[in-house]
This record gives sequence, structure tokens and C-alpha cells, in this order.
Amino acid sequence: MRDYYEVLGVSRTADKDAIKKAYRQLAMKYHPDRNPGDKAAEDKFKEAAEAYDVLSHDEKRSQYDRFGHAGMNGFGGFGGGPQGFHDINDIFSAFGDIFSDLFGPGMGGMGQRGRSRSRARRGSDLRYRLEVELKDVISGTQREIQFETDDACKTCSGSGAKPGTSPTTCLTCGGSGQVVRQQGFFAMSTTCPTCRGEGVMIKEMCPDCRGRGRKPVHRKLSIQVPAGVETGTQLRLSGEGEAGYQGGPSGDLYVQLLVKDDPRFERDGQTLHGEIHISYLQALLGTEVEVETVTGSTKLEVRPGSHDGSEVRLHNEGVPAIRGGRRGDLVYHLKVEFPKKLTKKEEELLREIANETGVEVMAPAGFFGRRK
Ligand SMILES: [Zn+2]
Ligand SMILES: [Zn+2]
Repeated sequence: MRDYYEVLGVSRTADKDAIKKAYRQLAMKYHPDRNPGDKAAEDKFKEAAEAYDVLSHDEKRSQYDRFGHAGMNGFGGFGGGPQGFHDINDIFSAFGDIFSDLFGPGMGGMGQRGRSRSRARRGSDLRYRLEVELKDVISGTQREIQFETDDACKTCSGSGAKPGTSPTTCLTCGGSGQVVRQQGFFAMSTTCPTCRGEGVMIKEMCPDCRGRGRKPVHRKLSIQVPAGVETGTQLRLSGEGEAGYQGGPSGDLYVQLLVKDDPRFERDGQTLHGEIHISYLQALLGTEVEVETVTGSTKLEVRPGSHDGSEVRLHNEGVPAIRGGRRGDLVYHLKVEFPKKLTKKEEELLREIANETGVEVMAPAGFFGRRK
């Protein structure tokens, strides 16, 4: 790491004005707007900003004078150390005032960056609601979705200007997209009415998009819905949203899933619940019945002596975990049904059982009547 005084090219006894002056000169020389795409200049620009940050603060400077770069690390925890500018825009937000008196308001520093940022904008995120069936959740599914969105116009590469011409800097705001109005003591900054904040004017419009730089498109996408999703699960398809403005990145596409109710099953996370109606005789004596699963059917064993509300668990017939792994269970709840009316024969047999097991039951209907 180079010595900060060396970076700014000032002596160790330089006063604040000298330091500021030295920094302004370097900032002007290595300003990213004057050296577009020049990585070395950008590094110099950052280095100068870091040096200026330290040497322009009395406390940081005296710490640096005593301990050098090592002294700066200890400083960091208080937020007072060298800022370690990673992003050019950090520098503009830290020293924006210097740039405005460098280039004049609205033209340098923040203004200039603000303009290029407002021109190259990220496209909007899009949201798409996709309905899937419960069976799609079991093994995952591939679905095609279609929607309308905007793409950059190919004819003008998104500039909106007729091919061969290029947009010109807005004269009203000087390209900043903002105009400053003096109101008494206050300067109010508002969106430029001429260019609507774009900072540029298009003299000859692209005939294809009529100056918008964008064209509506109908987009088709095939998306993979993973197994185990539920209503509310959101899939993010990075970069599949609306196209960016003026070369900015595309937005993302969020697919919000809605799993349709399956009237046969209640879902509780990975567990599914179903209901099966059986006769009291099947409950008492046991049976094997065919039941539905989400994707087909299987045999369900009702053990002798089951009662109303008994549960029979079918392993691995539930819903898989979204991150993979084994499937949950399908739980069948038994509903035991009793006949409303017995046949003569049934009644006789049941009375015989009651008699055999010593259970007291009501006398047959008509019995009292006959005795009368
Ligand atoms: Zn303007
Ligand atoms: Zn166009």
C-alpha cells in the first residue's frame, strides 16, 4: 500500500488546502467519466480518494502519521478508518461536494454519475402466478409459461435514436436529469421536465420503437417446478424479467406458485391426510381395501378391531421435501359406518352375539306391544 502523502504528491506538512487541491487535481485526471473503461485509472481514482479521506480528517491523519497504515486498521471499528472504497459511487457519495465545485453543480461527480445511472437502469422484476396440481408437486414438473414484456429495441440497441444518430445531452438540465430551483434560501432539485430525468434528448427517433428504445415482446419460457413446492413458494429466474434500460441489466422473474387443492387430500407440510369409509364389520373383522394415492392407488390394510378415527399410515405416499430427501406419509383416517336399518337376519345374528357375550340390549321392537 502506497504512502498517502506520496499518493497525493504532497509533503508531510502540507495544510488542508494543499491536500484538497492535490486531491482535486488527481480526481479530475482519473475521473471515471474521463477514462471510461480504464481499470488503472479507476484504481488511481480510488487510491486518491482513500488517501484524501484519511489526510483530510485531523484525527485520522494524526493516527496515520504516528502508526502508518497499521494505525488505520484499528480505527476502522469506529467507522473512522480509511473507507476502503470498493465502489466508485461510494466515493461520489462521500466527496460529492468536492466534485460539484470541480465541475459545477449538476455536471460533475454526483450529477454525472447520477445521469449515467439513471440512463442505464435495471429492468423491472416481473411476477407470474403459476397454478400446479398436487401430483406435480410429487415429482416436480416442467411447465411452459408465456407473458408479455419489454425487450430492448434491436434496431437502435435500446437508445431510442434513429440508427446513425445518437441521443444528445439535454440542454435544460445539462444531462443530469435534474434541475435545481432556487426558492428563497433553499435549492430544490427536481426531475428535469424536458427530458423527464433521462438526461438526453432524441432528435431523430428510431422508426422501429418510436424513441422508446424498447419493444413489447411475447415471451415463452420453460421452467422447472421442483418437487415439494407449496402455495406461496417463489421461484426466482434471474435476468428473465423486463429488459434493462439503455444497456442496464434485466430484472428478475419471480414465479409464485399456487398448488391447487385436491379434494381427496388435506396437506400438512409433507404429510397428506385422506379419509376412507368402511363398514363396522370391516372395522371389527379387519379387511384390505383399495385406496387412492396422489398418483394412483394402493392396498390399505385395516386391522381387526379398528375403530372410528383409527389412522392407517402409508409410508412414502406423501409429499417430498423441497430440498430432496424421502417423501412424507399419506395418513388415512377411518370412518366407520353403521347401518341405519338391520335386516331381519342381521338382527337375529346380532342378538345371538349379544346373548353369547352377555351384553344387555333393548328388547326387539314390538316385543312390549305383543305382551300387552
Ligand atoms: Zn433534462
Ligand atoms: Zn428502436
